Amino acid sequence: MTRDWPSSPPSMGTSDSSAWWVGLSEEELRIWQCECGASWVYSRARCAHCGSSDARLRVSSGHGRLLAVSIVRRLGAGTQVPFAVAVVETREGARLLSRVEAEDIEDVHPGAEVVAVFNDGLPTFRLDTESDS
Ligand SMILES: [Zn+2]
Repeated sequence: MTRDWPSSPPSMGTSDSSAWWVGLSEEELRIWQCECGASWVYSRARCAHCGSSDARLRVSSGHGRLLAVSIVRRLGAGTQVPFAVAVVETREGARLLSRVEAEDIEDVHPGAEVVAVFNDGLPTFRLDTESDS
């Protein structure tokens, strides 16, 4: 059995996730940030760190680093391999799962600096070779 993966973003989702999808349509990673310093991507009623309900929506710098990486080397027909999937932590501290683009897939490793790029309204990350941090 084969499965066709969507080539375009899904609908705008629920009202809880609409800020995320609207941000992507404007090539922005919108994240939630609490007064305690915690940041996250997906809308939730309360901060998981301190319990506050007073989080604010802001635009991420798009820069971050890789916390964990998986290199996919085998997959079904029609999918170009290898490719990297990683847990990205933005500079603001929000974490998300994403593909990571690189000329040499072996350069994709935990700790590597990355920057967000947008393809057809969906975010991925690429290695940030110009990072000064
Ligand atoms: Zn908090």
